[in-house]
Amino acid sequence: MTRDSELQEECISRLREMRRECAEVKKNALDQVNEDFANILLGFECVVDSLRHELRMWIALKEGQPDAAWDRLISAQEAGRAAVRAHRGFSALTEHVERLDCIEKVVFPPQVFVSTGFIVGSQECSICGTEYGDCDHLEGIPYNGEFCLVLPKRTAIDHVAIVDHPRDRRCRITTVPTDQGSRNRMTWKLESSASESTGSMAGNQSHADCQFNGFWR
Ligand SMILES: [Zn+2]
Repeated sequence: MTRDSELQEECISRLREMRRECAEVKKNALDQVNEDFANILLGFECVVDSLRHELRMWIALKEGQPDAAWDRLISAQEAGRAAVRAHRGFSALTEHVERLDCIEKVVFPPQVFVSTGFIVGSQECSICGTEYGDCDHLEGIPYNGEFCLVLPKRTAIDHVAIVDHPRDRRCRITTVPTDQGSRNRMTWKLESSASESTGSMAGNQSHADCQFNGFWR
């Protein structure tokens, strides 16, 4: 937090270059059919992403943008956990993730999370492209330097719910209405009059009188 933002920006640039180099080396590993090394490089990519998002979080906080900082924190946590999953060699990263979890509790106020329920027509495996469940790939497990993702197809929104444990913790209530106007839950600042606060989409979803970042990503 105390470090100079320009120095942090320089560090982010170096991390971006490292990420690019990792991707090139990973491509060579795949050409040589070296899955174990490709998964190690996937872990390196995740570590770089986690550090980059954490630096962006501190910069956003210094710029008075706590909502953007929250998104960066969640991305840093997810990338850190992904590194641990990528390869057994990154098991020590659990301490890094625990540190980020502590930052969440100490720096940010408690959040109210939302989850969007979808009706899903089919689910595609990102590794082989077939219907997920018909193949042997498992979601979140690395294969040849890439994580298996489940890609929902033909989706329709069914409902939105307030939950304690959402799939994506970036989905949360961002403002609440008051008699004086819309209050940002992060800064506690009044942002607009009550009449303006209802129904405003502004990049978020509007539900009843609250605004929230609603879509699971
Ligand atoms: Zn598959």
